[in-house]
Amino acid sequence: MSEPDWLEMMLERACIGHLKKFGVTPQLIVAMEEGGELIQALSKFYRLREGYIFEEYMKPGITHNLIEEIVDMEIMIAQLKIILKPFDHIYERTREEKITRAFDRVSGEIE
Ligand SMILES: [Mg+2]
Repeated sequence: MSEPDWLEMMLERACIGHLKKFGVTPQLIVAMEEGGELIQALSKFYRLREGYIFEEYMKPGITHNLIEEIVDMEIMIAQLKIILKPFDHIYERTREEKITRAFDRVSGEIE
């Protein structure tokens, strides 16, 4: 088994384990909290890119923090997808529509 498959399996088992151990409602709250942390990390990364953060020691930390929050959110999204498993067909249809729309919006600009 390649490492990505192994990691995907581990992610799914971790998500199911968290949902069983803590329950759906608390995990929904954690998803909200992680969403908030991602927004804060994005805001700081934006300020860094725009030159509003001057302290050199903060710069690597801000980028690293954004990456951590992206991964945290990825884990919470994996849990949300398990919670919403009965609506998988709607998820897949919506995903296809939105990705197609996003592609179509810029397809003339892609070589
Ligand atoms: Mg976090």
